[in-house]
Amino acid sequence: MTAILEVDKLTRRFGGLVAVNNISFDVKQGEILSVIGPNGAGKSTLFKLISSFLSTSAGEVRFKGEKVSDLSPHVVARKGIVRTFQETTIFRSMTTRENIIIAHHLRSKASMAGYFWGSAQARRDEATFAKSADEIIQFLDMQGIADELASNLPQGNLRALGIAIGLATDPEILLLDEPFAGMNHDETMQMVDLVRSVQRERGVTVMLVEHDMPAVMKISDRIVVINFGEKIAEGTPAEIRSNDKVIEAYLGS
Ligand code: ADP
Ligand code: MG
Repeated sequence: MTAILEVDKLTRRFGGLVAVNNISFDVKQGEILSVIGPNGAGKSTLFKLISSFLSTSAGEVRFKGEKVSDLSPHVVARKGIVRTFQETTIFRSMTTRENIIIAHHLRSKASMAGYFWGSAQARRDEATFAKSADEIIQFLDMQGIADELASNLPQGNLRALGIAIGLATDPEILLLDEPFAGMNHDETMQMVDLVRSVQRERGVTVMLVEHDMPAVMKISDRIVVINFGEKIAEGTPAEIRSNDKVIEAYLGS
């Protein structure tokens, strides 16, 4: 399989602290790759570098061979590298469907202001977006909550809405930072299935950061392990499970 994303000697310093230290790995087209490591290891910083929410100190990220690090975040998102929005960017006074429709504007020619003020381009886009939103709602089996206000949705549904919003931007790579956080076992397994179907049926490459080891082992094609900003291991779940450095990093933390 070819690499869709190459992380090449990526480094990020915060003052004297090296949060991400000379990390390199490839992400293959269509895989689910998890990044794991103890708290403070640099996982979220790594995701923010890949999505250009942070600038690099050294090294670079290439998407299909083209350098994408240090561009502005919306440019990177338009290219198809999408970090799922945090729950705070879900409009709580809008319904599930409205939130998904709005999210399409990331890829649209019309601005968000155009949407709110009803520009011609926005009106043309709207019918297309509504159709696509309904398709995503069906795909994620969210028909039952499509017209519910986001403010009324429980945690598990909000997380699924986060995925729906990510899909609305037509991603090639979806970056999920702790998608199972705060979920019970059943909710986690539902989310695992949902992410798997996004990968299998829509061909989206998925990168995720997660603490829930059973879920990580179940969902991942490959795993990259980082500790104190450095990559300490990379491999299949079976390889990672039996890796001495990994066991030490977790038992030592
Ligand atoms: P993880 O997601 O693996 O828990 P983070 O990437 O959030 O770790 O953080 C890695 C290290 O970088 C931590 O020591 C954290 O305190 C530090 N850090 C993260 N973001 C910033 C920032 N904006 N300014 C200063 N230090 C930061
Ligand atoms: Mg984090």
